[in-house]
Amino acid sequence: MSKPTILIVDDEISNIEIMNAVLEDDYEVCFATSGQQALDVAAAAQPDLVLLDVLMPGLDGFEVCRQLKADHLLADIPIIFTTGLGDTEDEMRGLSLGAIDYVTKPIQPAILRARVGNHVELKRLRDQLAAMAVTDALTGLSNRRHLERSLSNEAARLGRTGDWLSVIMLDIDFFKQFNDTYGHPAGDRCITMVASALTRAVKRASDLPARYGGEEFACILPGADPRGAEIVAQEIRLQIQSLNIPHERSQVSPFITVSIGVASARCLPNMSTDRWIAEADRQLYISKQEGRNRISTTEFKGQDEYCRT
Ligand code: GH3
Ligand code: MG
Ligand code: MG
Repeated sequence: MSKPTILIVDDEISNIEIMNAVLEDDYEVCFATSGQQALDVAAAAQPDLVLLDVLMPGLDGFEVCRQLKADHLLADIPIIFTTGLGDTEDEMRGLSLGAIDYVTKPIQPAILRARVGNHVELKRLRDQLAAMAVTDALTGLSNRRHLERSLSNEAARLGRTGDWLSVIMLDIDFFKQFNDTYGHPAGDRCITMVASALTRAVKRASDLPARYGGEEFACILPGADPRGAEIVAQEIRLQIQSLNIPHERSQVSPFITVSIGVASARCLPNMSTDRWIAEADRQLYISKQEGRNRISTTEFKGQDEYCRT
């Protein structure tokens, strides 16, 4: 496992050297000697913790803290202020700006090591929790919550340019019989393999495959028009078919298959994202009705739709 990264910010090189000597064995350490440099290095290195001097010429520590907290990509990085002994007001102000702790100078190595260690561990646990909250435990795909949030964000973003957005929903055919025949653990393995086939089939970095629930998956394709989305849906169907997972009680194939629904629309400002899910789900239902192991698509317009969320 790679070492956590600590950014030390201090205009006095001797202070940086003292802190570096305490931390360098356990952490990747990077430095900045001014407020502006601190912001630049933080953005580039995405450190796990910042040790921030309060008193610096130019941007002082408070201003750096304020700007880090205002940047949503950097706001979660814990900040520990380094203050002169007895600067109670500075400590209060730092904490009120969102710093997580402070250490006093002159630096006491054991205290610095312990506080940094505690906060890096807490940050690791917070990151782990945040990742778990958006991930499906069985497949490692995004979960439904993450899919719905991303769909909202993408629809809002594409709404500014009137670009296409497509959503694919898919459901494994006769999966209840699969579980009944091969057992629930084999069912779980099948779901995991379908998840990897789905991931292989979607190629653009902005495409988001997700487990919608049970044996149902979804995929958001930002920028994909009806034709493009259908090509992706065909690729998904083929990738899953070519897993060749035996399913002797399927009524449509000796192997695992999926039914797919695709919904595409040009994004308009304030369009409800429920529409994409509902329309793709309706097409999925049609695919089931018409014999399974197939794709149904629709293109809808959203003039009269307003955001309900
Ligand atoms: P259809 O072709 O109409 O989709 O039929 P189906 O049998 O796939 O659909 P149905 O909704 O009747 O059954 C879905 C089955 O999926 C039932 C449920 O036990 C199973 N299932 C849902 N989630 C999981 C899971 O996480 N693991 C396993 N092994 N099975 C699951
Ligand atoms: Mg099913
Ligand atoms: Mg189902």
